[in-house]
Amino acid sequence: MLAEIKGLNEECGVFGVWGHQDAAQLTYYGLHALQHRGQEGTGIVVSDGTTLKGVKGEGLVTEIFTADRMAELTGSAAIGHVRYATAGGGGYENVQPLLFHSQSGSLALAHNGNLVNANSLKHQLEAQGSIFQTSSDSEVLAHLIRRSGFAHKNDQVKNALSMLKGAYAYLIMTENELMVALDPHGLRPLSLACLGDAYVVASETCAFDVIGAEYIRDIQPGELLIINDNGLKSEQFAVNSTKAMCMMEYVYFSRPDSNILGVNVHTARKNMGKRLAIEAPIDADVVTGVPDSSISAAIGYAEATGIPYEMGLIKNKYVGRTFIQPTQALREQGVKMKLSAVRGVVEGKRVVMVDDSIVRGTTSRRIVNLLKEAGATEVHVVISSPPIKNPCFYGIDTATKEELIASDKSVEEIRQIIGADSLTFLSTEGMVAALGQTEGANGFCLGCFTGNYPTEIYPDTLQYYYQRG
Ligand code: SF4
Repeated sequence: MLAEIKGLNEECGVFGVWGHQDAAQLTYYGLHALQHRGQEGTGIVVSDGTTLKGVKGEGLVTEIFTADRMAELTGSAAIGHVRYATAGGGGYENVQPLLFHSQSGSLALAHNGNLVNANSLKHQLEAQGSIFQTSSDSEVLAHLIRRSGFAHKNDQVKNALSMLKGAYAYLIMTENELMVALDPHGLRPLSLACLGDAYVVASETCAFDVIGAEYIRDIQPGELLIINDNGLKSEQFAVNSTKAMCMMEYVYFSRPDSNILGVNVHTARKNMGKRLAIEAPIDADVVTGVPDSSISAAIGYAEATGIPYEMGLIKNKYVGRTFIQPTQALREQGVKMKLSAVRGVVEGKRVVMVDDSIVRGTTSRRIVNLLKEAGATEVHVVISSPPIKNPCFYGIDTATKEELIASDKSVEEIRQIIGADSLTFLSTEGMVAALGQTEGANGFCLGCFTGNYPTEIYPDTLQYYYQRG
């Protein structure tokens, strides 16, 4: 499905390199591969061993990093970030990496995820005299590091990390070290690779492939990796770490060519489609997927049912993203501009339309309508995940609870609203089984589906998520 019009957005992607003369250039390519995780702002900070220097701006990777700007970024280490703004809002100052200079040295931060206790920590820090440069939750870590009473930088970072609650994949760079930290639940993906003698870290493994880096392993929940010219050291900063990887990374966000915890995303989605075929067998003529993220599940559904897969919907790749505004009216217009039904495929046919999720329902209604306008005699909607009934507090913009159509409506009510002939959601068990994980649902966060979140949610965070919008 199309993030800009669906109202379901990832907040960020991070990428880092240590020990390569083309660190900034590699980071550019890495961020380009992660662009689907955030399109509103991007930045790169480099270290040449004595100073940190950064370039950032609001826009796409290809727009911000011109040849002139790239030429400024010399050094053998770099961290980069792509951002989608929700928590803390947009604006140049919130574009990451955040860069801090002080007499004791410089520090750059790039963060993917969302801290659920950021507001209470901010209040405490401000009461102690901290002045925040941004409205982003990510900055809290820099202040906690600076205020830590420990003498050694690694202890300062570990102590600061132990105070954070929520989802975080952090890259922290000083003049002579790159530190990589993942929250105690490992809510967001983060992997390590090598390129010759250099180390590379990225939110998704697809960013390694583009630069020819060799995957080593995933960062573990509660792990702090310290990379410097002496090599790599792993430490654990959280005692109680239990894995709870975001299920939506598999369902929707990550690129199909990425692997998360050893599971290929395309294969996971295809298996979800196969499970749907068992749970929702439908007598139909063609199967079609909503491009791009639902194609894999649609192929799986078609393969398992024997109904031919056809390209019944096509995406117009050349619509400028500036046309798509986050308002309901323009979102509806956006569907028409971005998707077209292929009359030659669907006319006179009973169509199974596979989609990965339903957020507000508006987009699904428009797509069902597009297919019917193009002559489909029946449109059966099958969704390769369970109904999203709850907001996400960990860095995915799923809209407020009030905006989520499944929060207070039954499947039959949603079917009527979107105008489908039938509507089926994949069961939670089916979704988990599709990943082939032996530990069942235990290794995943399913909060937006079940309402059971892996961390405590703080009252000020709840207020924000239930009142905004
Ligand atoms: S609540 Fe949903 S979107 Fe958020 S981390 Fe959990 S599974 Fe992912």
